[in-house]
Amino acid sequence: MDNERPKILIVDDRRENRLALQAALAPTAYELVLVGSGEEALHALLKAEFAAILMDVAMPGLDGFQTARIIRERERTRRIPIIFVTAVMAELAHTFEGSETGAVDYLIKPVDTHALRAKVDVFVELWRQGKEIERAGNALREAERRERTFIESMYDVTFEEAPIGIGHLTLGGKWLRGNVRLTSILGVADGQLGESTIYDFVHADDRERLADAIATIAEDSHARHKGEYRLAGRRAPGTWIALTISLIRDISENPIHLVIVEDITNEKRLALALEASERRFVRLREAGLIGIFHEDPDGTIRDANEAFLSIVGYTREDLEAGRLRAASLSVDGEDASVHAALPGSATTLETEYVCKDGSRAAVLVGAVADPEGLTGFALDITAAKEAERERARALRDLQESVRARDDFLYIAAHELRNPLTPLLIQVMSLREAAVNAKEPIAPVWLANQLEVAERASLRLGRLMDELLDVSQATIGMIRLEVEDVDLAQIVREVLDRMHHEIQRANIRVTLRAEVPVRGSWDRVRLEQVVANLLSNAVKYGEGNPIEVTVEGTPEEASLSVRDYGIGIARNEQARLFERFARLVSIRHYGGFGLGLWIVRQIVEAHGGRIEVWSEPSEGSRFTVILPRVSPPRPAEEEKEQHERRELE
Ligand code: ADP
Repeated sequence: MDNERPKILIVDDRRENRLALQAALAPTAYELVLVGSGEEALHALLKAEFAAILMDVAMPGLDGFQTARIIRERERTRRIPIIFVTAVMAELAHTFEGSETGAVDYLIKPVDTHALRAKVDVFVELWRQGKEIERAGNALREAERRERTFIESMYDVTFEEAPIGIGHLTLGGKWLRGNVRLTSILGVADGQLGESTIYDFVHADDRERLADAIATIAEDSHARHKGEYRLAGRRAPGTWIALTISLIRDISENPIHLVIVEDITNEKRLALALEASERRFVRLREAGLIGIFHEDPDGTIRDANEAFLSIVGYTREDLEAGRLRAASLSVDGEDASVHAALPGSATTLETEYVCKDGSRAAVLVGAVADPEGLTGFALDITAAKEAERERARALRDLQESVRARDDFLYIAAHELRNPLTPLLIQVMSLREAAVNAKEPIAPVWLANQLEVAERASLRLGRLMDELLDVSQATIGMIRLEVEDVDLAQIVREVLDRMHHEIQRANIRVTLRAEVPVRGSWDRVRLEQVVANLLSNAVKYGEGNPIEVTVEGTPEEASLSVRDYGIGIARNEQARLFERFARLVSIRHYGGFGLGLWIVRQIVEAHGGRIEVWSEPSEGSRFTVILPRVSPPRPAEEEKEQHERRELE
């Protein structure tokens, strides 16, 4: 097009004039088209593009001006410069009107060649520039169009291929289009959104919220809404979507909504599960069942629940001020929770915490390490530990009593055998004497033999009684036959009865009982008490004198038996009144180790008490204190009631 020669149209009804103009312009770089009338000119203009027109004014048919007017009316030709050629100056009097649309000039015949060329050159140049501008404009428009097409197709590709749901909505919420991902998220089987609206897909409970959001955006073009919605169950049950809605303009500049849809079901499910587990953890944390804490890598306990604080006795202010440190809780300066959380050996650990007040708390500690430090729990097991100790104590006691019982059986057998042997020997020698006697048996010898046998029988009887008493007292069956008795009198009688025993031991017993000391007591039982204390004094008195004292106040009576024998070590005195308590070797001293125990049972049954003072090698004093009137024992009452019921 640039190389093409500009065309000049020459219009004149007279051939010689046309040729003259042609000759004047011939050597130029123009292509000349000659026509003979206005009509022909219009025709030529339809077929080709011209850079300028040389037009005769006076022509038959359409004259120059008329033709020019038509040219100016046509869109394609209205800008072509026209040079009118005329021989008559007068014709120029009414010059061509409407010259505003295109360049117009005039030449007078005979045409001056230079002037003609100059004007044509100027006009052609003008035309060329116009063409240039037009071409540039076209190129620009073309480039713009291409770019637009490119952008649009890029948008379309992006729109369709995006891994995220994208759609356009009318302001009323009706779908205009939606990409593949969008329809798949919404669960539209054929990918066609049809006449549906966004509300058709959203859970009924969420629709109002969405409608409010969409209305707000429609009013404010800069607004943008982001929200999480559930889809309507029928389409994709349980699906959660995140919607981002904003306002854009379509090709015709009409406002529409751009919607971005993401499927966040998994995230939501995780978030909900996380929330639920968080809630459960918080419930556990707040329940106060176990102490929960978080420890910084530097060993400061930064976070803890009330249960933990109450185990270690610190306040929340201590915690917040950073005063609660793992090192100060530990007994040996070693952080127990760090040990519990050691990778590979993570396990619970029984240890002790040093509480704020210095006391110790037995705890079970467990912890897990993470980059922010340690999270752990502590369970207060003080009570469990105490119960464990209690169980161990009970087990020890049990073992002890089983052992004591075994010892007792051994001692009992030994003790019972002691009087049995002399008894058997006496009986055997009596039988032998009776069988072999040649002459009457001497009464003195007989009396001696029988006395030994009697003593052994009495001893056996006493041991049997003791055993019986123990078994009765053990089941709370000591029955008191209460009557008005004088304690001093009882002591005198027992001393009488033990006369032989005392004499054999060669011991002097003094009784200090100035006045009768009366009370409501069980005579037989009190005799037993006195006899037991006296025979112990004899047994362990090493032959030294024994002092017995009976005294009274208006409320109480007291009996004390003092010997100067082997005495009892302080630390053993507490055990004295227990069952099977024997502090001395069975080889040296006989006895079940039950006497004092029975004494205590009887004294307590009377509402009294027994006390001991003793020093090893200095002897002992046992003192029995009895209220003058002994209270009835609840166990007895119960038993009596029970018996009465049985009788009825
Ligand atoms: P036993 O039948 O063995 O004498 P007891 O219950 O009467 O049993 O006494 C328990 C233990 O207390 C005795 O084995 C003895 O070790 C000690 N005991 C009792 N009375 C005296 C005392 N007067 N002096 C020293 N030790 C005594």
